[in-house]
Amino acid sequence: MQTLSPTQPMEHLDDWDDFVATRYKEGKDESEFRNYDKLANPGVAEFYRLNHTHQTLDFVLARKKEYLSLTKGPKSIWEAAEYLNTLVDDSDPDTDLSQIEHLMQTSEAIRKDGHPRWFVLTGFIHDLGKVLCLYGEPQWAVVGDTFPVGCAYSNNIVFPEFFAANPDIKVPELQTKYGIYEPNCGLENVHLSWGHDEYIYFATKNYLPESAQYMLRYHSFYPQHKHNAYRHLMSDHDVKMFDWVDKFNRYDLYSKGSAKPDIKALKPYYDDLIAEFFPAKINW
Ligand code: FE
Ligand code: FE
Repeated sequence: MQTLSPTQPMEHLDDWDDFVATRYKEGKDESEFRNYDKLANPGVAEFYRLNHTHQTLDFVLARKKEYLSLTKGPKSIWEAAEYLNTLVDDSDPDTDLSQIEHLMQTSEAIRKDGHPRWFVLTGFIHDLGKVLCLYGEPQWAVVGDTFPVGCAYSNNIVFPEFFAANPDIKVPELQTKYGIYEPNCGLENVHLSWGHDEYIYFATKNYLPESAQYMLRYHSFYPQHKHNAYRHLMSDHDVKMFDWVDKFNRYDLYSKGSAKPDIKALKPYYDDLIAEFFPAKINW
């Protein structure tokens, strides 16, 4: 049996993405995807145990304070993608995609369907927040389905039983339906568990349309976009904008398995696309 690292239980960061894609495989009904097997995915289950145990309101606020000051230095979008590509773990180079390949597979699928250029670009950058791993963050603080902290956990969050070990569960004010929030206060006022979504949203928000910002910021918020579990915190505007999140999600989940993109051949197109929206370097 494989031994699990106490802090990095998944062999590969993308094990989480693969697990989510299996969970929401097209054609599966709701009861089927709730039957995920801890024994079949021990690394992923342990990853969620850590995630649900340690993602407290205080933890999220501390991470936002640290990373949303964007003091990790300026980099171009392409440099950030190449930097993310240095994240190599024990994956099989023949079958697994590199980080840039996943990004391009997503963006190329969007492009093939004739969507606007900003949408293609959003596909290309959507996982750049995973560079958090390279700053030394554990897997459970980079990937994973996101969920609001500071209010009750929905039973629609995967492995809800693991919240029993979260210190916030013992704080009654943080466990009511609305917790520290007001009804329909709007998601911009809600703190989600910390990870790669919030970081890439924040680093790029000044350069992209609002629809792109929603896609980036909420692409891992499965409890909402797949289960509608937090409508009571959303404004009507959020609900409208989530049409874009849904539109994006299909490409993120289901573009894997198409042919490996030819990065070298595609690079000039992406250089132009990036230059259309971004300055030479942005702060990270
Ligand atoms: Fe992602
Ligand atoms: Fe992705």
